[in-house]
Amino acid sequence: MANDQAHREYSRAVTAYQLAVAMPVVLFLAFRVAGHPGQLLDRRLAFWMVAIAIVDLMPVPAWGGLHLSLTFPIRLSLAILYAPVAAAAVALLGSFDPRELRGEIGPVTSLFNRSQIALSVLAESALFHAIATKDSDWAILVPATLIAALAGYSVNTAIVATAARLATKLTFSQILARMHGAAPYQFLIEHVGLGLSAAVIVKFSVAGEWSVAVFLAALVFARQMYFQSRALTDRLAEQNQTLAEQAARLEHLLAKEQESVAELRELNKMKSDFVAVVSHELRTPLTAIIGFVKTLRRPEFAGDVATREEFLQAMERQGDRLLRLVENLLTVSRLENDTLSPAVGRVSFLDLCREIVEGLGGSAERIRMDIPDDIPVLFTDRDLLGRVISNLLDNALKYSPDQSPCLLGARLEGTTLRFWVSDSGIGIAAHELGRVFHRFYQVDSSTTRAFRGTGLGLALVKDLLEQLGGAVEVESEPGRGSTFTVTLPLHHAEVAESGGSIPDEQGSDEGSASFVA
Ligand code: ADP
Repeated sequence: MANDQAHREYSRAVTAYQLAVAMPVVLFLAFRVAGHPGQLLDRRLAFWMVAIAIVDLMPVPAWGGLHLSLTFPIRLSLAILYAPVAAAAVALLGSFDPRELRGEIGPVTSLFNRSQIALSVLAESALFHAIATKDSDWAILVPATLIAALAGYSVNTAIVATAARLATKLTFSQILARMHGAAPYQFLIEHVGLGLSAAVIVKFSVAGEWSVAVFLAALVFARQMYFQSRALTDRLAEQNQTLAEQAARLEHLLAKEQESVAELRELNKMKSDFVAVVSHELRTPLTAIIGFVKTLRRPEFAGDVATREEFLQAMERQGDRLLRLVENLLTVSRLENDTLSPAVGRVSFLDLCREIVEGLGGSAERIRMDIPDDIPVLFTDRDLLGRVISNLLDNALKYSPDQSPCLLGARLEGTTLRFWVSDSGIGIAAHELGRVFHRFYQVDSSTTRAFRGTGLGLALVKDLLEQLGGAVEVESEPGRGSTFTVTLPLHHAEVAESGGSIPDEQGSDEGSASFVA
């Protein structure tokens, strides 16, 4: 498994390169140590080996970085304190990568990593000893340590960068940029700083092993404390972030809540306006009817047949108006409760339109019908379609001057019936067009408005057409008039689905009473 992973990460060329670096180093050191085995039989060397291993194996967070590496100055001290071969051999044996123990890197990679560390220690030691000794004064010790640190750094960087070049095909400058991140100078300064602490470790070491052990222990302790406080800071930052996110979410919810409250308020206002409007709409015809009845009861009208007939007709018109209003209200309530389902039957569109227009009484003569005879029988709900037509005609008559004509036209378009109601009345402003189909919406909803109405008619037209599978559109120009155009399938979807039996044309007597104007 670990080998598989290593092979995925590194190509064969990388493995060959790793072996090419590791084998000569290992063989050279083995050969040299075998020649003088005594040079490794030093108790103090074992101390350094253990020190490197312990520090290497202590868990380091991913964000540890070079500035928290302690093995680098320890290995540099080793290079200063001992001859190159002994120091390199101890570095090779003592350096551990925790991933080796977890089986995350294979033996070749592991050997390569250790060899390149040994090679840099070899370079550090050789260069240092060419200039100074561990007993040199600070004035010599410090620059020699820094030169050795730079030599080790160069060897290490060159070997690692070459491996990365083979594995990733990035250019050397890209690799160096990645190794040193966005701050190459900081990286160099950290290196120099760590190198200097090696000089201090050497001075402690010269004073005795115990003092260096205490010094190293203090360093390790300080580093671990740093890790802990850093982890705490990170956790706090994370919690702050979570809190900020939650605050933002709450703010968002609050804004939505406020929006809903505003909407509900608006709805509430519309409903109370609606109650006022409906009461007004009910009162007007009722007052008129009661007025007519009171008049008719007066003895002077007892024998006046013509006036009685005129009054009775007016009462019938007012009664019809009341009935229409109540029917509309009931339909809205059935739509809201989802209890309205179309009763599909055969419907003659022309007959239906004639019936509705005749029922308009005196206003009938204002309607011009343009409906061809050859419109086929529709399969739809007669009552609901009648309500659509009568609401549109009612509006056309209401929102246009008393003497002006209104048009009710229709054409067959394939399997769709298209019909329209147009008038040359007050029209609707472009910005109101989208809203006139909203329930309770009236362009002028003031109590002093010139036209009667509840703001339900067009919403009902739209909802009823949805039930019938049709749609309505409006075109209008203020001052010039409006045209409402309806498209309706000849066959209601229910018929198409069932393909079953359809009742004959629904009784016009009973059906017409409910919507005839
Ligand atoms: P209302 O009962 O007020 O007539 P509707 O839902 O039928 O309610 O119509 C909504 C609004 O659309 C009306 O208040 C009116 O302002 C406008 N409207 C509807 N039809 C016409 C039309 N033919 N001409 C001008 N305005 C119209």
